Amino acid sequence: MYRKVDADMVEALRQIVGAGNVLVGTEEMEPYTHDHVVGLRANPEVVVRVTSAGQVAEILRLARRERVPVTPRGAGYGLSGGAVPIQGGIVLSIEKMNRILEIDKKNLMVTVEPGVITGDIHRAVEAEGLFYPPDPASLDSCFIGGNIAEGAGGPRAVKYGVTKDYVCGLEAVLPSGDIITCGGKLVKNVTGYNLIQLLIGSEGTLAVVTKIILRLLPLPKVQIDLLVPYDDFEAAADTVSDIIAHRIVPTTIEFMEQDSMLAVERLLQRKVPYDDAKAQLLIQLDGNRREAVDADAEVVSELCLQHGARDVLVAQDRPTRDRLWEARRMIIESLNHESPINHMEDVVVPRAEIPVLLKGIKEIAARQAVRIISFGHAGDGNVHVNVLKDDLPEDRWEALVPVVAEETYRLTLSLGGTLTGEHGIGATRRRYLPLALDDAQIEVMRGIKAVFDPDYILNPGKIFP
Ligand SMILES: Cc1cc2nc3c(=O)[nH]c(=O)nc-3n(C[C@H](O)[C@H](O)[C@H](O)COP(=O)(O)OP(=O)(O)OC[C@H]3O[C@@H](n4cnc5c(N)ncnc54)[C@H](O)[C@@H]3O)c2cc1C
Repeated sequence: MYRKVDADMVEALRQIVGAGNVLVGTEEMEPYTHDHVVGLRANPEVVVRVTSAGQVAEILRLARRERVPVTPRGAGYGLSGGAVPIQGGIVLSIEKMNRILEIDKKNLMVTVEPGVITGDIHRAVEAEGLFYPPDPASLDSCFIGGNIAEGAGGPRAVKYGVTKDYVCGLEAVLPSGDIITCGGKLVKNVTGYNLIQLLIGSEGTLAVVTKIILRLLPLPKVQIDLLVPYDDFEAAADTVSDIIAHRIVPTTIEFMEQDSMLAVERLLQRKVPYDDAKAQLLIQLDGNRREAVDADAEVVSELCLQHGARDVLVAQDRPTRDRLWEARRMIIESLNHESPINHMEDVVVPRAEIPVLLKGIKEIAARQAVRIISFGHAGDGNVHVNVLKDDLPEDRWEALVPVVAEETYRLTLSLGGTLTGEHGIGATRRRYLPLALDDAQIEVMRGIKAVFDPDYILNPGKIFP
C-alpha cells in the first residue's frame, strides 16, 4: 500500500531540513522505534527532525506525493504506541521545536512550540506568578505537542480539567501541506467548527501541530497535601466518591494500592511512608486564602477518618510535599522494574463508580489468577490498571492479556465509563474501539480522517480497528 523510502527521498529530506537532521542508521534511529508501551517496536525507514512549520509542510507534501507514511513524534513517552511507526516510513520528530515563544502577562497566555517539555512550561510561567495546571506524571519528559495530540490529563484534572481545557490557539500542518491557524489568544471563539478540539486527542492522525497558545491562571497562593493510609482497600475507594459528594473539589485525589507502594520501595531500596497500609489516598487542596484551604482540608481529613483512615499526614511545605508525591510519581517505573513484561489499561468511569470499578478489578484478578495493581487519578474516575506477567509462562500471558483487557473494558462500560481517559487508543487499543463506540460514530470518525488525510499518510495504524 505504501512506497518505501528510497535514496532520492532521503536526499530530498536532507534538502528540506539539512543533512544533520536526517537519521538513517539503525543505531541512531533506535530511540525512535518505540514509546513507553512495553514490547511494542517498529523500525522507521528514516527519522527527520524539523525546526519549522514550513519544513513540516514540505515533508508532508513530499510524503503525500510519494505515498510514504509519516508518524509525528514528541518525546516518545506515550502509553498507547501512538508514536511507533508501525508502517515504517518517516518519523517526524518535533524535538527541536522547543522554544517558549512568549509569556503574555496582559492576556494570561503562553505561546510555545510543540517540543517544549511540559514541566518547563510550568516552571517558566510559575516564575511569573502564573499557572498552567495540566500535570501528566510524565511532565518532566513529555512534550506539550504530545499532550495536545493525546489530550493528556494528570492528577489536577479533578479541579482544573485537562489539556483540552487550556488550548486557545493552534498552528497545524495538514497532510496537504497547508498550514492552518485556529483560534488565538481568545478566551471565547465560536467561529465555525471547533477544529482546535478536533485536533486535541487526534493522536497525530489528522495534522502536525507546530504552535500552541495556552491559557494561564494566576498561581494559587496556598497548597496543602494530605497522605491518607487505610487498612482496608474498599474504605479508601469509598472515601473518594464521598469527598466529591460533599461538594469539596480537591485539586487531586490519587489512589494507590499497597502493592504499588511496595514495588516503589523495592526500586528505591528504602521505605516509603505507611508501606503497611492496604491503600493510600494522596489528596491536594489549593486556593488563595489560607483559612478557606485549611477549612476544606479539615473537612476532607474528617471524612477520611470517618471512612476508617488510620491517619492523615499533612504537608504544607515543598520538601514534605515532594516526599509525599515521590512514591506516586515512581509507580509506573517501579511496576516496569517489578515485572518488565506488563500491560497497562487507562479506563475511566463516572467518579461515583470508582469503588465498584476497583472492587470489580480485584475480582477479575482473582478469577484470572494474575497480579493486577490499580492506581491513578481516582478523583476524576481515571484508573490505571496494571496487569503483571511476573513468572507466568509466555503462552499463558499471551492468552491472558486480551481476556483481562476485555473483561476490564466490559466492566468499565457497564458503569458508564470508557476505554481510555488520557493515554489514547493508539496502536494498542484500536481493536477494542467497537466495544465503546457504535458503527455510526466510527464511520463519522473515518470520514473526518478521510477529509483531513485522503491518502492515509499521517500515522496509519492508529485509532481505527
Ligand atoms: C511514567 C509515565 C507517566 C505518565 N503519566 C501520564 C499522566 O499522568 N497523564 C497522561 O495523560 N499521560 C501520562 N503519560 C503518557 C504520556 O506521557 C502522554 O501521553 C504524553 O502526552 C505523551 O507526550 P509525548 O511528547 O511523549 O508524545 P509521543 O509519545 O511522542 O506521541 C504521542 C502521540 O502524539 C502524536 N504527536 C506528538 N507530537 C505531535 C505533534 N506535534 N503534532 C501531532 N501529533 C503529535 C504522536 O504521533 C503520537 O500519536 C505517562 C507516561 C509515562 C511513561
